[in-house]
Amino acid sequence: MEVKRVILSIGSNLGDRIANLQEALNQLAAIGSTSKCSAIYETAPWGFESEHSFFNICIEFWTDISPEELLQKIGSIEQICGRSRTSGSYSSRTLDIDIILYDNLIIDHENLTVPHPLYDQREFVLAPMAEIVPELTDPRNEKSVLELWTDLGQHAARRHNDLVLNF
Ligand code: ADP
Ligand code: MG
Repeated sequence: MEVKRVILSIGSNLGDRIANLQEALNQLAAIGSTSKCSAIYETAPWGFESEHSFFNICIEFWTDISPEELLQKIGSIEQICGRSRTSGSYSSRTLDIDIILYDNLIIDHENLTVPHPLYDQREFVLAPMAEIVPELTDPRNEKSVLELWTDLGQHAARRHNDLVLNF
């Protein structure tokens, strides 16, 4: 199968957040290759109350596995990194990996929606994405990441210039 460009959002708000992000990058290396990794952005939790802030990154990733297989793989990587799904929708987690874009596909399955349904409302996705792929467009509306980020108009995320991940 052909290699496709995928944009992944990776977040952690529990435990050693930098180590969790690094472990995600290490595990992802088994199924593809990362060509760009954003800086780490710190934001307050979105959609629920918690005292733990989130560390988030976005990566440009190349893989030949299908969207469904990729969803399964990121699920097992989340498991490996110790995430538990005890409560309902939004909760604290050691690691959350979301598929934001997969090539220019539009997918609307029961367990997988691509582009990710809420990414254009989330500064913690758009800020790191604008850093690495500002010109990439959303296949649903042809808007660029930079446009989407400008439209959102939020600038509360703190960019950590001093923290470095290896990929
Ligand atoms: P969230 O990421 O919204 O905080 P979860 O990580 O617990 O919540 O994901 C819940 C479900 O979202 C997953 O079981 C998965 O099947 C589904 N899902 C749908 N679209 C996507 C996507 N683009 N990337 C990742 N998960 C997705
Ligand atoms: Mg998720």
